[in-house]
Amino acid sequence: MNRISAINAALAQYDSGEFFQCLKERISKRTVNTPGGSPQALLEYLQQMQSKLHDLGFSTRLESVVVNDRSNHFLVADRVEDVERPTVLMYGHGDVVTGMDSQWSEDRSPWELSIDEDRWYGRGTADNKGQHSINLAALEAVLECRNRVLGFNLILVLEMGEEVGSPGLREFCEKHRDALKADLFLASDGPRLSAHQPTVFLGSRGIVNFKLRVTSRALPYHSGNWGGLLRNPATTLAAALSSIVDGHGALRVRGLCPQDVPEAVRDAVALLQLAPEPGDPEIDLDWGEPGLRPEERLFAWNALEILALDAGNPANPVNAIPPKAVAHCQLRFIVGTDWENVATHLRRHLDEHGFPMVEVEVSRGAPATRLDPDSAWVRWAKGSIEKSSGKPIAVLPNLGGTLPNDIFALALGLPTIWVPHSYPGCAQHAPNEHLLGSVVREALGLMAGLFWDLGEVDLQQMNPEAVVPQ
Ligand SMILES: [Zn+2]
Repeated sequence: MNRISAINAALAQYDSGEFFQCLKERISKRTVNTPGGSPQALLEYLQQMQSKLHDLGFSTRLESVVVNDRSNHFLVADRVEDVERPTVLMYGHGDVVTGMDSQWSEDRSPWELSIDEDRWYGRGTADNKGQHSINLAALEAVLECRNRVLGFNLILVLEMGEEVGSPGLREFCEKHRDALKADLFLASDGPRLSAHQPTVFLGSRGIVNFKLRVTSRALPYHSGNWGGLLRNPATTLAAALSSIVDGHGALRVRGLCPQDVPEAVRDAVALLQLAPEPGDPEIDLDWGEPGLRPEERLFAWNALEILALDAGNPANPVNAIPPKAVAHCQLRFIVGTDWENVATHLRRHLDEHGFPMVEVEVSRGAPATRLDPDSAWVRWAKGSIEKSSGKPIAVLPNLGGTLPNDIFALALGLPTIWVPHSYPGCAQHAPNEHLLGSVVREALGLMAGLFWDLGEVDLQQMNPEAVVPQ
């Protein structure tokens, strides 16, 4: 048995319908983790996975945690073959967003996996049951073809709270830091760059949400009697905003921009080509940081969005000067941004531009992460996936969106590689969530190839990679 047999064994699970049946069973579990969901279903899903992993030779345990009155369940399964061999930490989540049952087309049920041409519909197909199921099936194929061994050690963490912010995941990982010690973090979630291009991403952009607020007085005043005498907070706020991000999306505060974009990141992004699908909005070429390609703006720069604005009563405007105005804003940023001092940079900028009356309130933040695209683990993964798929793969230094990857990259200090099996049009978090059957089949094969190659990796050549610090 060899690499090809492992890939063929994984493809056979697709072709025989076995993979479909297995995913169908998992999709039928209504693991909604929001008010109105079933706490019992969350636990049952993990128990089912636990028995599956037990059969594959893993030692398993379930742990429930409560952090700030929010609960979560974790399944940890590990399979130690030889401490001299590499250890991989994998991750997935079995919880899903609400079904939105009445809104699916063709009367589909989100809880019944159904096929229409290349699409496999069901809640959790893309996010994330389908993705971790592909990885498990590929692991099984390698075990089958390598005399019941993998050639590496594996720790798998499954949680049931990702859709509500992964309560307790950080505390759980920190508490079990020794048990989760690994050489590589490997997981699957999120979309490929485009449906038919195998993709890896090495981290995610970070996020800071903040409000800008101007409060001039307690009451509105008639604009005829007072216009020209009283400061209009909406006018001041609009001007302050446009001094921060101009009308064409360019960031104008140096402290909110990345301090530098390493050459390896620029080189990786230069190879990327966004491929919008039918139904996607058209990309505005005259938007964002001048001089950057759209791919650079999404993966190698920061973006400041105004998410909502509030002043007066837009539903029923009256002839009055509103007493206050507020803007809800968000900065998506890459590694190398001084994100922990966003409030200071904004304060200084606003004061320098004559807006001391604009208050800044930073409400939420999560760091950016990014493994060096030039690192040995990335070159290894890229080579393996290209060999299996016969296609050039996309290496995204980071996802445009945000994942709790900092827990693995920064808190556990692991090199992180994500291999997504979904695509941008998958309708994740919306009605009609689906995977593409053609991508499922390809992903089964390339994950089997990747796991096979992991069993042969020479750890000496994979010098421990440090994550690029913030
Ligand atoms: Zn999700």
